[in-house]
Amino acid sequence: MAATYDAIVVGGGHNGLVAAAYLARSGASTIVLEGRPKTGGAATTEAPWPDAPEYQVTRLSYVMSLMPPTIISELDLARHGYKIYPMGPYYQAFPEGGSIKLYADDAKRNHEEVSRWSKKDADAMPRWDAWLAGLAEVLGPLLLTVPPAIGSRRPRDLAGTLRLAWRHRGLDVRTIADVTRLMTMSIADLLDDWFESPQVKGALAVNGVIGTWAGPYSPGTAYVMAHHSIGDVGDGHLGNWGFADGGMGGVSAAIEAAARAHGVAIRTGSRVARLIIEGDRAVGVILDNGEELRAQVIVSTLHPRTVFLEQVGSEYLPDSFVSDIEHWKTRSGVVKINLALAELPDFTADPGSQLQEHHTGSVEMAPSMEYMERAFQDARNGRPAQFPFSDGVIPTTFDTKLCPEGSHIMSLFTQWVPADWSEKPHTGELEAYADRMIDCYNELAPNFTASILHRDIVGPYQMEQEYGLVGGNIFHGELSLEQLFHMRPAPGYADYRTPLTGLYYGSSATHAGGGVCGIPGWQAARAAIADKKAARRSRQLHRLTRRA
Ligand SMILES: Cc1cc2nc3c(=O)[nH]c(=O)nc-3n(C[C@H](O)[C@H](O)[C@H](O)COP(=O)(O)OP(=O)(O)OC[C@H]3O[C@@H](n4cnc5c(N)ncnc54)[C@H](O)[C@@H]3O)c2cc1C
Repeated sequence: MAATYDAIVVGGGHNGLVAAAYLARSGASTIVLEGRPKTGGAATTEAPWPDAPEYQVTRLSYVMSLMPPTIISELDLARHGYKIYPMGPYYQAFPEGGSIKLYADDAKRNHEEVSRWSKKDADAMPRWDAWLAGLAEVLGPLLLTVPPAIGSRRPRDLAGTLRLAWRHRGLDVRTIADVTRLMTMSIADLLDDWFESPQVKGALAVNGVIGTWAGPYSPGTAYVMAHHSIGDVGDGHLGNWGFADGGMGGVSAAIEAAARAHGVAIRTGSRVARLIIEGDRAVGVILDNGEELRAQVIVSTLHPRTVFLEQVGSEYLPDSFVSDIEHWKTRSGVVKINLALAELPDFTADPGSQLQEHHTGSVEMAPSMEYMERAFQDARNGRPAQFPFSDGVIPTTFDTKLCPEGSHIMSLFTQWVPADWSEKPHTGELEAYADRMIDCYNELAPNFTASILHRDIVGPYQMEQEYGLVGGNIFHGELSLEQLFHMRPAPGYADYRTPLTGLYYGSSATHAGGGVCGIPGWQAARAAIADKKAARRSRQLHRLTRRA
């Protein structure tokens, strides 16, 4: 006899845990099936060095921002250990000398910092910040909006499209033009319109290329910058970017604790091989070991290719949907390098290895937009970047529990290696790439290489094989324009439902993903709960009309 639940959640990443917590909170008996030995997926804290287990690294994702206050408060995450340390400034030291710091919320200090490179840019900064804030007011609430099936004539879809249009009736010609620019321009072209200093533009371009298979001169990167800069999703202001207590695994652990408190059962080491389909319904799952579990509601949070093409099978899905998923773009060229350091970097531009403000934020390797573009072009041409880009952070400047006193953990989010490196390990080449990355930092902080105690390199192949991030894409699919909003993951199915009754979809490949925000999991659970209520209402109505 197959074990039966009201709801099965496939994948115990943070979205799966959020979905499960909400389903259980609504009264559904819920189980999470996670293939790895631990939950968290890409939001994980691990000890990668067997001979130094006292060093805990936030192995893939590394900073928080986009989790909506609604999810944090409804799941009571703070009580379960969720805590964020707001991070310090963006920091870039330059090979030619000098450095820049940019603060998320200190206009006066930004003016002083930017003035060192360009007085004109310093004067432009407040206007840029206000412009971005205005656009974030439009885009932010869209993150919590269920995208309508634009073009569909079904009454529910038409109502959704009309609601969206009505909500934006106040937008004027100027704002629409600005949103259009943001959605279509490259971050480089956009910044060229506003600023003159290469140093300032380099610092501001970083958010436009994070996790993206595109350099700063590629159209669409302006939007990627906005996605990472949104401060308000309509249910309260989000924090600035910050470090999670206990690393990103601390976020997953808090959500897991909340889910368990609502009665969710969590099984790790339980890899789902297939979904059981009967007619047009998903009714259960089969694990690798042949065990069957059944439920009326199944929420998958796996990569779309895995769930739809491998676990469901194209024979159960409309051809157009299968074709959309087959063409889903899922490249990144990201390599995560985690380091244990004996001491903090001693930058020539800002000397001293004692803890200083510039160690507490992003310690970048993005000295100019041209530097980043070259790194991307190398990878596009089939070679790993000669001089890689890095978004570095040192979370132990706040969270000292992650390593022995006096030492530090540094996380380097680096780009780019060729997109097809997800197909083979490329171990030796990754080591050489990491050496070059470290050399770049060493040029700015000459104690860097000597301070490294341990290093851990996670390339696209490992991301796919070990974490299920197909193609090594960090968001289960690129944030390119044709894969956003009503197109994510496929037109007609952006409402967290799928072509199969009973199967809901809540991974980062849906609208509002990626990132550690929980919105996809939350929305998938809400869709399932709403459908259950609607089915109950319709059954009651049916009974009443039959009696009458
Ligand atoms: C290197 C890197 C850096 C990043 N940096 C940031 C950052 O700083 N900030 C940020 O907000 N976002 C960041 N991201 C993105 C963010 O981490 C992801 O978008 C998010 O964590 C994905 O969550 P998810 O729950 O949708 O999917 P996942 O975390 O991928 O969870 C899916 C789960 O399903 C499991 N699974 C896979 N196959 C099966 C199966 N067959 N059966 C059962 N279980 C299975 C996996 O093991 C995994 O636990 C980063 C990602 C990466 C890779």
